[in-house]
Amino acid sequence: MDLINRFRRFMNGRYGYDQFGRFLFIVSLVFWALSGVLRFTPLRRLYFIFWALNTVLYAYAIFRILSKNVWKRAAENERYLRVRERFIPGWRKFRTEKLDKDYFFKRCPKCDARLRLRRIRGKHTTKCPKCGTKFTVWVLFGSAP
Ligand SMILES: [Zn+2]
Repeated sequence: MDLINRFRRFMNGRYGYDQFGRFLFIVSLVFWALSGVLRFTPLRRLYFIFWALNTVLYAYAIFRILSKNVWKRAAENERYLRVRERFIPGWRKFRTEKLDKDYFFKRCPKCDARLRLRRIRGKHTTKCPKCGTKFTVWVLFGSAP
């Protein structure tokens, strides 16, 4: 089809879609939804702010797809992925450790295995099931021994 060929020629040498692009589209969609909801609340004057943010992010996402500066866009994506990798596992760990009242997680000082330990107040000696190293664990907040 001529149209598809023309589109291919147009996109030739341009950057295209990536994970950071998807993130920008999702965030802009969230702002768009917020601006739509705010219109029906007493805060309707603020709707313009979210609408503007949505437009800016959407425009930037489109700009990245059409950009011919492929290396710069790839570097942006790399930076985004690094932040995401650092942020998301930390958040998950935080959630499981904070929400679990009976257990907590600790890394073995020798082999770095992640151990699930009972949250009992006091000083304990634990043996790593993976490498057999014995080490001391202090539990400050937990149930009575
Ligand atoms: Zn170990």
